Amino acid sequence: METIFTKIINQEIPSYKIAENDSFYAFLDINPNAKGHTLVIPKKPIDKLFDLDEETYADLFSYARKIAQAIEKVVPCNRVGLSVIGLEVPHAHVHLIPLNSMNDANFAAPKEKMTSEEFITLANKIAEAVEN
Ligand code: 5GP
Repeated sequence: METIFTKIINQEIPSYKIAENDSFYAFLDINPNAKGHTLVIPKKPIDKLFDLDEETYADLFSYARKIAQAIEKVVPCNRVGLSVIGLEVPHAHVHLIPLNSMNDANFAAPKEKMTSEEFITLANKIAEAVEN
């Protein structure tokens, strides 16, 4: 099923893109738990993460690790956490969240407010830190 994430992948709606390859797309979450909160998605429009085929599932985590390492270089944090929710957008994705406190992993907590300029600057910095 096509969702808003398919439109983001196809550039039909804008996103603060960090990186992409043939199979995956990484971009800043528009409503972040913490600055640097990133979504990594497969380009295939499969709803549930654990329904992905074995290869896409494994490669998604490998790609997410590369993005997490870039986030950790750029965003001051204790570590980057990974969460899987999927209650809002039915297109498989993992959340990478820079963690400084348990609250940063709390999706019900108030979100971080960022300006468009902040999103652009941060996405560009993380993008530059991604190892090829
Ligand atoms: P989940 O499906 O894992 O419960 O949550 C979906 C996540 O996608 C949320 O954190 C939400 O802020 C984010 N999100 C929803 N729509 C958009 C969008 O159009 N652009 C971006 N960058 N993030 C979105």
